[in-house]
Amino acid sequence: MEREAIAACLSVPRGPVEIRKMPVAAPGRGEALVRMEACGICHSDVMITGLDKLPLTPLVLGHEGIGVVEEVGDGVANVAVGDRVGITYFAAGCGVCEACRAGFERYCAKQTNHGYTRQGVLATAGIVAARNLIRVPGSLTAEEAAPLCCAGWTAMGALGEAGVRAGQLVAIFGFGGLGHLALQYAKHAGARTAVVDVGAEKLEFARQLGADVAVAAEDARKTLVKEHGGADAAIVFTASAAAVPAAFSCLKRRGSLILVGLTADTYTFSVTETVLKGIRIQGSYLGSRADLERVFELAERGVARPKVTVYGIEAAPELMGELERGRLTGRAVIRF
Ligand SMILES: [Zn+2]
Ligand SMILES: [Zn+2]
Repeated sequence: MEREAIAACLSVPRGPVEIRKMPVAAPGRGEALVRMEACGICHSDVMITGLDKLPLTPLVLGHEGIGVVEEVGDGVANVAVGDRVGITYFAAGCGVCEACRAGFERYCAKQTNHGYTRQGVLATAGIVAARNLIRVPGSLTAEEAAPLCCAGWTAMGALGEAGVRAGQLVAIFGFGGLGHLALQYAKHAGARTAVVDVGAEKLEFARQLGADVAVAAEDARKTLVKEHGGADAAIVFTASAAAVPAAFSCLKRRGSLILVGLTADTYTFSVTETVLKGIRIQGSYLGSRADLERVFELAERGVARPKVTVYGIEAAPELMGELERGRLTGRAVIRF
């Protein structure tokens, strides 16, 4: 049967994001056809629009989606027709490498990714890898649930890597889609929270969400180190080049620098300072399966929910630019 979806696509590397029709095939082995309800726009989508090479073209963007399974291919046992599911960037690991066997599939070198090496779900329908889909409770609206699949998951994964305990100070650099969820998770864990951003509106939003400290980037070191004794963990969600050294400078002794936001920049750190202060520098990508389940559980209980603004798919190209310029508060979500 011939089917089509309306999708946000890149036809060529570094080309404009186009809204166009794409054919939808029947799901193959291990795949599901999902009728999409909503999909968030992530900074990784913006990053993919800037790559010199793409693994496939035309490429449907989007990896933060909620939809209902309409058809399944052979060998799919974990979801059935009619199930409401969440789709993430992580499509599948190889299943046999050291990372996969140790439960760190997200670090598998052979992984496939929705909206990058596989077609994404910023579309009215998509064919997705079924194995790692997550069930989505009916009590959450699609637009609220969508950002949990990437922003929420990645924020939870980073907090796990930070190992922040109750009473410790966690500094969140960059208060966008990930940062505003990380703040809610950190507060729920009993941590003290500091938010650092360059945007006055975002700092005001952080105060509204209950950040103990909300400070402009240029004042971060002075405020966090002199007035609060330094952060136990500083998590860099923004791709801003200046944020990484700023976050490093805000740490207390034995503090952890957690890098999440992707940037092409490189950094130099003082070896002496890193050694003498016992600083830990850790990258964090997505999260564990348990982290993904946890963000849905917290959302369902009303503990932590994303702030979303809903748009139609025709807004997707412009939203990518707005996101890149740091102009969006909370998460922009496309409702289909
Ligand atoms: Zn993402
Ligand atoms: Zn693997």
